[in-house]
Amino acid sequence: MLKIIADFPHAGSEAFLRPDGRKVRIVQHLADGRCIVGEVPDSPKARDASDNFRVDFTALAATKDIACDPSTDPRPRRIQLKRTKGFGLPDNTRNVARPTAWGNPWRPSDYIDAGYQAGQHEARRTCVEIYRAWLTGTSHWALTGWTIAPPDLSALRGLNLACWCKLCSRHALGKPRGVDCPDCEPCHADVLLELANE
Ligand SMILES: [Zn+2]
Ligand SMILES: [Zn+2]
Repeated sequence: MLKIIADFPHAGSEAFLRPDGRKVRIVQHLADGRCIVGEVPDSPKARDASDNFRVDFTALAATKDIACDPSTDPRPRRIQLKRTKGFGLPDNTRNVARPTAWGNPWRPSDYIDAGYQAGQHEARRTCVEIYRAWLTGTSHWALTGWTIAPPDLSALRGLNLACWCKLCSRHALGKPRGVDCPDCEPCHADVLLELANE
């Protein structure tokens, strides 16, 4: 999903960071599709040059309005499925909830029912962690004796992925790949977004 550099503000120009529209200056384009950016010095949160950081090309927008408008975000997003009348999957979106091939076989309710004490959120996190271990071939206590092959992710590349897990109000229109949010429910779709687009 690399854009050509001519598409984009060049080194030295200002840009706005998704999703909050924070103003930054582009220091350098990198060959891997990222940019080195720095805080704009007149902002109250100005950092010195040593605090430059790297962001995905696609996290930058030319204006603050565009940066704050999730519908213009080119990064694949996690979408929340809803049963409300009139809800339709956005374009370029694939349902990855159960019972699709990508659904998470580990259910938080199984852990809660089995007496898992850490609560709903932790149970969800655990299920997502097991799912990640399954897909990446990492050993995990829950995978002992598990012999089912993980699903093929190639069909998910570049798509938004939808599941029932709740998104917070800030991410109501979708949580972009790579955004870590403590207020959104943990979901295996985050793992799929990450791995399918590596
Ligand atoms: Zn969120
Ligand atoms: Zn989910």
